[in-house]
Amino acid sequence: MTVILGAGLAGLSVSYHLGHERCLLLERASHAFGHVHTRTREGFTWDEGPHVSFTKNDYVRGVFAEAVGEELLEYPVGIGNWFRGRWIDHPAQSNMYQVPEPLRTRCIESFLETRRRRAMRVPANYAEWLDAALGPVFARTFPAAYTRKYWTVDPDRLGLDWIGKRFFFPTEEEVLAGARAPLDRQTHYITHVRYPRRGGYQAFASRLAEGARIQMETEVVGIDLREKRVCTSDGRILAYERLVNTLPVPNFIDMCGNLPDAAREAARALDCSSVWLVEATAPHPTQRPEHWIYVYDEDLLSTRINCTERLSPCNALEGHTGVQVEVYFSRHRPLPCREGTLCDKVVDELTVMGLLCPDLCPNGSRDIRASVHRVPWANVIFTRETAAALETIWSALEPFGLRREPSDTHPLTDWSAAKPVPQDSVLVMAGRFGQWKYFWTDDCVLRGRAVGMRA
Ligand SMILES: Cc1cc2nc3c(=O)[nH]c(=O)nc-3n(C[C@H](O)[C@H](O)[C@H](O)COP(=O)(O)OP(=O)(O)OC[C@H]3O[C@@H](n4cnc5c(N)ncnc54)[C@H](O)[C@@H]3O)c2cc1C
Repeated sequence: MTVILGAGLAGLSVSYHLGHERCLLLERASHAFGHVHTRTREGFTWDEGPHVSFTKNDYVRGVFAEAVGEELLEYPVGIGNWFRGRWIDHPAQSNMYQVPEPLRTRCIESFLETRRRRAMRVPANYAEWLDAALGPVFARTFPAAYTRKYWTVDPDRLGLDWIGKRFFFPTEEEVLAGARAPLDRQTHYITHVRYPRRGGYQAFASRLAEGARIQMETEVVGIDLREKRVCTSDGRILAYERLVNTLPVPNFIDMCGNLPDAAREAARALDCSSVWLVEATAPHPTQRPEHWIYVYDEDLLSTRINCTERLSPCNALEGHTGVQVEVYFSRHRPLPCREGTLCDKVVDELTVMGLLCPDLCPNGSRDIRASVHRVPWANVIFTRETAAALETIWSALEPFGLRREPSDTHPLTDWSAAKPVPQDSVLVMAGRFGQWKYFWTDDCVLRGRAVGMRA
């Protein structure tokens, strides 16, 4: 029997690809799907933070499309930026015509000076990479500020290997043209996205869950890797032949007996952010065209904002708006206000931005409702120490049946080069937090496929 810890997308995909009849999933929550779980409340549909599929992988596209019976929406994505009281198209580095003066000129001069200086130092961290890519003035005003809000650390704490194609590295011509007028083409790495017409993002994962054997409300609290047993919070002990972990690595290591102190210490060094989702509704139409918006001002709590009815019109009551705001925090950046004041502060910010309009509501601000939802594990923070910590942890797990894989300490996985996971590996790590990777939903599906595949 393969026991799978956690019934999020990675756990479900492993079970689906190995064959549900061979697997048992243990899930702490009263529902499956983990981070792709969708909640509905008072006519609004909320995902756990904005979720859209931008995968180019045909297999995953097929799994998602089949799950919703082809009832999916596909559209060009609209992204905006809010900066000091004004809207800037995304990415800001190629839309500088909307950056106010004199900042615009300073950004361009600093960008050109950096690019024209031939001898460029190889960047040692994300802060240096940003300076080299965009010029220090723009880098420190926009992405460095956003990094502190989203990743909750200064950019010099971050390494470089997670960036991949995620950041637009503009040419001189693109920056100069974008400083005069809108560019005639999209320069963001995501151009088109897919989203289920009904049921929120979770609907894409429904096919993988059909027939899965899941024990809900079953929290795993202890693991004996030598005796191959797991212990649950209600005192049960289950034996496994093969164990697949999708729980966050620091929690997993904490639960395991038999591990050296170095592995525990390495696990404590791993960093992850948490997010508060503030969800506000109002009985007036959506005021902005964007699907989501980045907020650069560090004195504002709002970090990224999405309008749920923009993702699918079925996500909200007709003529209403549903705005979800991510506010990130971690041990490096505690929430800068009391939890009880979060909703009011964010609603005030959305009102200033014009996303919520008391004037358009029959009963003014009394019609605006807001609540919060906390997500303890949000984004793995890839610091310069992460790879070394993972090396220590994976090495400590090898004697218990973990088979090392290429790039298992790297944030990204190249699926075109990925190999099936050996069937004789007794311990397998899977998923965003289980592998401690920069995984999107397609990566989680593909990891499950690699575990199920025969070499
Ligand atoms: C804010 C946000 C926005 C995102 N946007 C996108 C997007 O637009 N597109 C995209 O493709 N991806 C997106 N992602 C990434 C995507 O959500 C994840 O990659 C994916 O859902 C991770 O799945 P997982 O199975 O690895 O982990 P999880 O979903 O975390 O699953 C782990 C499961 O383990 C359970 N569990 C935890 N502890 C225990 C325990 N002790 N005992 C038993 N069960 C336990 C949890 O309840 C959970 O169900 C986003 C993520 C976040 C946080």
